[in-house]
Amino acid sequence: MTNETIAAIATPPGRGGIGVIRVSGPAAPDIARSLTNKLPKPREATLCRFVDGDNEAIDEGIVIYFAAPSSFTGEEVIELQGHGGPVVQDMLLARVVELGARLARPGEFSERAFLNGKLDLAQAEAVADLIESGSTQAARSALRSLQGVFSKEIHQLVEMLTRLRVYVEAAIDFPEEEIDFLADNRVHEELVQIENQFDQLLAATKQGCLLHDGMTVVLVGKPNAGKSSLLNVLAGQDSAIVSAIPGTTRDIIREYIQIDGMPVHVLDTAGLRESGDEIESEGVRRAQAAMEKADRVLLIIDDSDTTDDELEKMIAELPGSSPRTVVRNKIDLTNKEPIYIDTRCYKEVLVSAKTGAGMDKLRQHLKDCMGFQASGEGTFMARRRHLDAIERAQAHLGEGKKQLQESKAGELLAEELRLAQKALGEITGEVTSDDLLGEIFSTFCLGK
Ligand code: GDP
Repeated sequence: MTNETIAAIATPPGRGGIGVIRVSGPAAPDIARSLTNKLPKPREATLCRFVDGDNEAIDEGIVIYFAAPSSFTGEEVIELQGHGGPVVQDMLLARVVELGARLARPGEFSERAFLNGKLDLAQAEAVADLIESGSTQAARSALRSLQGVFSKEIHQLVEMLTRLRVYVEAAIDFPEEEIDFLADNRVHEELVQIENQFDQLLAATKQGCLLHDGMTVVLVGKPNAGKSSLLNVLAGQDSAIVSAIPGTTRDIIREYIQIDGMPVHVLDTAGLRESGDEIESEGVRRAQAAMEKADRVLLIIDDSDTTDDELEKMIAELPGSSPRTVVRNKIDLTNKEPIYIDTRCYKEVLVSAKTGAGMDKLRQHLKDCMGFQASGEGTFMARRRHLDAIERAQAHLGEGKKQLQESKAGELLAEELRLAQKALGEITGEVTSDDLLGEIFSTFCLGK
C-alpha cells in the first residue's frame, strides 16, 4: 500500500447536474474532516458544505466515506458529489490537493484496486472496456468480464495445468518407481482435457477480441459499382457512421460501423487502377497494403455491367491472400435472386444496395466469417493481449506433449506446463511487469 493520497474529478468535463471528485488513500478521512468539518459514517450519504481554509463555502453537496478495505481501491476513499460546473469542481479539487492529496494519473484508482487485490488485471481492463463500450453487446460482455467470468475460465485452466504438473513432478521425485508417462492413462487423459479446454477458451477469447477490436474489411471495386451506397446500407440506421476520416491519401476512406454491435473498420479504396499519376499510384500502393492486412476483402461489382470474364480477371488481380467475397450489386437491374454462393475460391453474395435485397445475407456472412454469435450467452470481453497469452500457453502445452512423446521426458513436460501457467498468469496479472501495468492503466480515463 502506498502513502500517497490521490484525487481526481471522476465525472466527464463540462457542466452537469452533479460532479464527483474521488479521493483515495490514507489521508482521505482527514481531508473529508477538514472539508466538511466532520467525518461522516461509512457508506452513508451525508449532505454538507465543502469549505475552504477560511471556512468559506466552496460548494454544497453529498459526501460518502468508504472505509478501507471496503472500497473500490481497497483504501480509504471519499467521494464528494458537488455541482457539476468546471469552476466549482476545480476549486474543490484544488482544496483537496491543498489538504494533502495529489492529482491522480489516468487509471490510477483501478491500478490501486488491482494492486490491493480488489480486481484482477482482466477485470480492471474490463472496467475500461465497459466505460468505452460502443454497443449493448460490448457492454454486457465487458460487465461479464468485470464480474470475473473470463478470469474464472483462466483460473480453471491454470488449476488443471497445476494438477497435472504436480502429478508429473511427484512422479519424477520418486525415480525408484519407474514411471512410463506415455503409458500412464491419467497423464494422457488430463492432457486431452486440457487441450479441449484450451480450444474452448481460445474460441471464446477470439470472440471477445472481436467485440473489442472488430474486424477490418476492405472494399474494392470500380467507381460506380456502388461501394458508398453499400457501406451506408451496411451501417444501418442504428449504427450511424461514427467517423469518416479521409485517409492520408485521397484514395482510402476509413469508416467505422457496427453490425449488430460488432465493430467493423471499413477501408474504402478507390480501386486498383494502374495510374501514371504519382499521388494516385501511392494510393494504389496503400490500397494493396490494406488489402494484404485485411480480415476480408469485399470486391464490389455492378452486376449489370460486369461480364464473368471481367470478374475472373478482377479476382485474379486482387493482391494478398486475405479471404475475399464478391458482392454482386445492383441485382434489381438484372432481376436476380438475392442469394449467397460458396464457391471453391471465394464467397459470393448477390445484393441490391438500392432495394436492400440480400443485405441481411451479406451482414450474416460478415458475422459468420468472424465466428460472431449474436446472443452469445457467456460471451466476455477480451483483448489482443489475452489472446496472445493464451496462444503462447497453448504452444507450451503442445511442446510439452511433444517432448513427452518423443523423448519420454517428464521433466520437460513439467517445465512446459509451468511456462503455460505463467503465460496464463499474465492475463489475470499474477505475473506482470511494471511496464505492462503502466501500458494498460495509462489508457484509462482520468478518475477511473
Ligand atoms: P461507388 O462509386 O462505388 O461508391 O458507387 P456509389 O455508391 O456512389 O453508386 C454509384 C451509382 O450507382 C449511384 O447512382 C447509386 O445510386 C447507384 N447504385 C448503387 N447501388 C445500386 C443498386 O443496388 N441498384 C441500382 N439500380 N443502383 C445502385
